[in-house]
Amino acid sequence: MANPMEVLLRDQLVVRQQKLETALVKLGDSANLRQLLREVDAALDRLNNGVYGLCEVCHDPVETDRLLADPLERFCIDHLSPHEQQALERDLAMAARVQAELLPKPDFVFGGWQVARHYEAAGVVSGDYCDLMTDGDGNFYFILGDVSGKGVAAAMLMTQLHAMFRSLISIGLPLEQLIERASSLFCESTLSTHYATLVCGKGSRAGEVEICNAGHLPVLWLRRDKIESIEATGLPIGVFCEEKFSCRKAQLAPGDSLLLYTDGLSEARNSSDEEYGIERLAKLASERHSLPPQSLLSACLEDLKRFSAGARQGDDLTVMSIRWAG
Ligand SMILES: [Zn+2]
Repeated sequence: MANPMEVLLRDQLVVRQQKLETALVKLGDSANLRQLLREVDAALDRLNNGVYGLCEVCHDPVETDRLLADPLERFCIDHLSPHEQQALERDLAMAARVQAELLPKPDFVFGGWQVARHYEAAGVVSGDYCDLMTDGDGNFYFILGDVSGKGVAAAMLMTQLHAMFRSLISIGLPLEQLIERASSLFCESTLSTHYATLVCGKGSRAGEVEICNAGHLPVLWLRRDKIESIEATGLPIGVFCEEKFSCRKAQLAPGDSLLLYTDGLSEARNSSDEEYGIERLAKLASERHSLPPQSLLSACLEDLKRFSAGARQGDDLTVMSIRWAG
């Protein structure tokens, strides 16, 4: 029984039980509170009898993210009533709209910087994080990340990252400290199983960049005559509350680009179960390094489509192409 998820859910149920019992005393008896208390008691009974989290129709496990959202859930997603199914679909569609509103413009120009991005969820909502911001000193910030897990729980964490980075960037901290604070906040406010890999960069009006790669895939720096990988120098954010991070500084030449992506691109698989891979991406990008961001992005996505040839998209996909035009 003692798996960490069950311990957590049991704690949540016990807290609810106590709150309901207190409410019944303080607010007086009510049919509604009694019914809720019966449901909580029944869930705790299921935990004690080893049948908690199993669908009452098919006996398969109920999806973990749904149990976390509602520990009283008794049916798997396949066995919701038509009414519940419709309500869930409406909720998800609304969540996807909220998420879409948080994204930066697909084409972004600031000073000598041009950025194009592509954001595509594998399901209805995505656990990828992508944002662009500017500060009052002529700097621009780019962030691309991937939250552990998928689906609604990951999308909720993505919105948390969005709010956190937006607030922290407005303070004007040095980049290392910015990431350290973000990591510490994320660690304190999420389950220990949740973390995020991400790349956060700051570009100046003179084409200098500072990049912190926190456990994410390598950033490809496309130069006129070669391609460089900017590898991770630290763990993902949120793994430990006291993590330290380091940044890499670079001076881009006019026409240089940075290519950022999530594993929805590099780890995409075709019908023969072959992986797309960073090497194939780097080869394609080096051949087309001089293209403007939107064209480079389109070339990458077309190549991925050719490679996948109709295989199902298994993971959230985000790609960002950033060019210093000078
Ligand atoms: Zn079921």
